[in-house]
Amino acid sequence: MDALYSQVFFPKTLGELFASWNRFPNAVPFAGGTGIIYGQEKRSLSLPSNIIALDRLDELRHITRTERYLEIGAMVRLSDILKLGKVLPQILREALSRTANPQIRNIATIGGNICYSDWKLDAACALVALDAQYELRTGASSRWISATRFSASTEEKKLNRQELFTRLRIPLEHWDYTVYRKFNANQFGTAYTGATAFVARIQKNILSEVRLVFSGETMLRDKDSEAILTGKLLPLGKREGKAFVELWEEYIAAAPVPNAVLKTWIINFIKSTVRNLA
Ligand SMILES: Cc1cc2nc3c(=O)[nH]c(=O)nc-3n(C[C@H](O)[C@H](O)[C@H](O)COP(=O)(O)OP(=O)(O)OC[C@H]3O[C@@H](n4cnc5c(N)ncnc54)[C@H](O)[C@@H]3O)c2cc1C
Repeated sequence: MDALYSQVFFPKTLGELFASWNRFPNAVPFAGGTGIIYGQEKRSLSLPSNIIALDRLDELRHITRTERYLEIGAMVRLSDILKLGKVLPQILREALSRTANPQIRNIATIGGNICYSDWKLDAACALVALDAQYELRTGASSRWISATRFSASTEEKKLNRQELFTRLRIPLEHWDYTVYRKFNANQFGTAYTGATAFVARIQKNILSEVRLVFSGETMLRDKDSEAILTGKLLPLGKREGKAFVELWEEYIAAAPVPNAVLKTWIINFIKSTVRNLA
């Protein structure tokens, strides 16, 4: 019979990992540990009783690049991703370089950042804007899911039982205009944080593609409003800019944003972005 005491596993292969997870279904993957130890999850003031440490899994540390994609393993640290420099799409570079501080970025992994349960964090915001894909694996199967769908899922539905985030795939497309901004405010003793990412591609003075994402406690992206800017000539006309802002105002009025200050901040961000395009 398996021991009743707390267990820490250090698998070297995914086969070993899933075998341990099968025996201890409540075991928790431990990547850099910054979220588990210091983050929201510290409220419980104790570590999970069974842990699967991921740091000996070399296969989760690979970075590969093709002409069209960049693939990054779940256990690659945020600081190592930043070392890729200009290969990284600018929006992701900006999001990661504003995540926490250099000490945390040296420990925290991209898989941990994406799977962290309480918030949709910085990397997720940029990865949704880039239409990244995530690979999730169990002992018996693997599947790919879009960053948008993953981030929009409720916590219980994000990962199935004993499912591991193993790598992400980022399309290497060129974006001509990129804006990334973070928001942090305290109101009535509650902290509200979030980040917004805007990317646009411009061909012959025409906006050929636009994406706008907000991430915080919830993830917001409205493809209908993106569509009304697509195909518009630059500089953007007043009427077109106004229509875009109004669609977002409608969308955000119905969205589960916890606070009026945050809503105003998102709309102000959109207005200033549209002004720049005009
Ligand atoms: C002081 C401080 C400041 C911070 N500031 C920011 C900030 O500005 N922006 C921001 O985005 N974040 C911030 N964070 C959060 C930080 O980015 C996360 O703690 C970190 O990214 C989590 O990565 P990790 O490798 O340490 O994950 P861990 O703590 O090891 O894991 C986090 C969660 O993900 C699960 N998990 C980890 N890897 C996998 C996997 N491969 N498959 C399935 N589940 C997995 C774990 O079980 C756990 O539930 C901050 C954290 C601290 C401590």
